[in-house]
Amino acid sequence: MATPRKAAPLPVDCDFLIAGAGAAGLYAANILIRNGFRVRVLERRAEPSTHSRSIGIHPPSLELLRELGLLESFLSEGIHVTTGRAMVMRGGAPCTGKPPKDGNKAAGKHRSVEDGDFNREQPDGGKTMRAGRSYRLELGSGVGTDLILTLPQHRTEALLEANLPEDLVLRRQTVIGFREQVDGISVETRCGDSGSSRVFNARYLLAADGMYSGLRGMIPVEWSGFTYPYPFCMGDFPDNTPFGAEAVIYLTPDGLVESFPLPGNLRRWVINLKPGARVRDDNDRNGRWHQLHATGPESGASADSMRVPDTTGIGREAGTTGIGREAGTAKPGLEHPGKEAAIAALCRTIGHRTGYTLEPGLAQMYSEFRAHRYTATSLYHGRVVLIGDAAHVISPIGGQGMNFEWGMIRSLADLAVKTDTGALLREASLQTYQHLGRSAARKYGRRAHFNTTMGLPGRHHHLLGAAVKLLMSAPLRRAVARRFTMR
Ligand SMILES: Cc1cc2nc3c(=O)[nH]c(=O)nc-3n(C[C@H](O)[C@H](O)[C@H](O)COP(=O)(O)OP(=O)(O)OC[C@H]3O[C@@H](n4cnc5c(N)ncnc54)[C@H](O)[C@@H]3O)c2cc1C
Repeated sequence: MATPRKAAPLPVDCDFLIAGAGAAGLYAANILIRNGFRVRVLERRAEPSTHSRSIGIHPPSLELLRELGLLESFLSEGIHVTTGRAMVMRGGAPCTGKPPKDGNKAAGKHRSVEDGDFNREQPDGGKTMRAGRSYRLELGSGVGTDLILTLPQHRTEALLEANLPEDLVLRRQTVIGFREQVDGISVETRCGDSGSSRVFNARYLLAADGMYSGLRGMIPVEWSGFTYPYPFCMGDFPDNTPFGAEAVIYLTPDGLVESFPLPGNLRRWVINLKPGARVRDDNDRNGRWHQLHATGPESGASADSMRVPDTTGIGREAGTTGIGREAGTAKPGLEHPGKEAAIAALCRTIGHRTGYTLEPGLAQMYSEFRAHRYTATSLYHGRVVLIGDAAHVISPIGGQGMNFEWGMIRSLADLAVKTDTGALLREASLQTYQHLGRSAARKYGRRAHFNTTMGLPGRHHHLLGAAVKLLMSAPLRRAVARRFTMR
């Protein structure tokens, strides 16, 4: 639809139409309703997503949930993380290419959860499997909102949606265009597969349609940034570690491993792959396969590579690693056609890097993704305002993307003024939102960049060890904890 203006007053259905019922759109609907505005959410999916992306909810976001009266429901479902642990593995390969069969028992025996040096030993000859140093970090007291809550994103979205009036979220409504009017905006949707269309009128349209926002493409803004060359993969498994509610990061010469507790006695394990690894990006709206080209000495295959038999017919370049089978047809998660091999490779890599044995058959979730850092050059145009991943994307490593976006949406909701005719976002308010958004994206983007790049395979590992030692020293520990908890 073009965007001519006409003078007739617009019979509006609501103050804010929100395109997208993801974490950003649903939080926006909640806070705008709390501020007294009339809201409607239009979502193209027939059913809520079951993809578990974000799991970390930080103290400032818990305060936002408290404002909505949702804190107790969130706290009762999630795991309360009050300590983190950095495990810096010493250089050198383990004694064998495989983790010990009862590596998990060995971990229990050696209680590598205390501060200080630790060894992970093989049961047979007492040879050192992996050795390193463990640093414990207080992240919160556990009182009130002084903690990090872990909860899969689909549960976060479900709790936010359940707090909205019934039928406020209209599903199978894909926003396909809009027309700006003098005092509002008309938004056109396509309904499910029927091809029929509907028009909704509102004062403003909030584009919460995610990183690959189609609405952003309809307004004159640039989307600038980059994609990190090393992809990640992750899986949820029954928790057989001695870590309990601790969040653990392993920094090894072969790469990063993150391990977080989840409800249901599960643990999420995340690893980075070498540049050049071929992954299916489960967050790509088209579900395409991506070939990331090998770019350096680390791209060569090693004992730590994600190797799977190439039964695919897709040529794999020498020196790259890969997962998967055929282009464009795979479904994400456990329906992934190469899933068994991919999950087995994930377990092998985790075993190799940490000594923990994970059973591939027990995986509850598996996902591959790439990290991005992008921002829209402008966050609004006329009556269209970008929120959530449609506005900025930072690397998910460190788990702050959804959290900082909620903070931005909270600011926007406070900048909206109620008038006799409905909501009003003055030009100055929109500029304030844009200014706040840019500086928050820079701040949290920098932190996420640090988290994403610090665990690169083979990257000056001894220097990293020294840096972690310094950061965990008494004067800096507190500041580090504040950064990780977004305070
Ligand atoms: C692996 C991974 C782990 C992460 N972990 C964390 C973490 O621990 N902590 C954290 O804070 N953040 C984390 N993030 C980031 C977080 O997941 C995102 O910031 C968050 O999902 C953004 O929400 P959103 O609502 O903007 O976008 P999305 O969640 O992508 O939702 C967009 C919605 O819009 C709908 N839509 C799209 N187009 C249209 C249309 N035309 N009309 C109607 N509806 C439409 C889509 O169907 C979808 O429901 C992680 C991200 C990834 C990839």
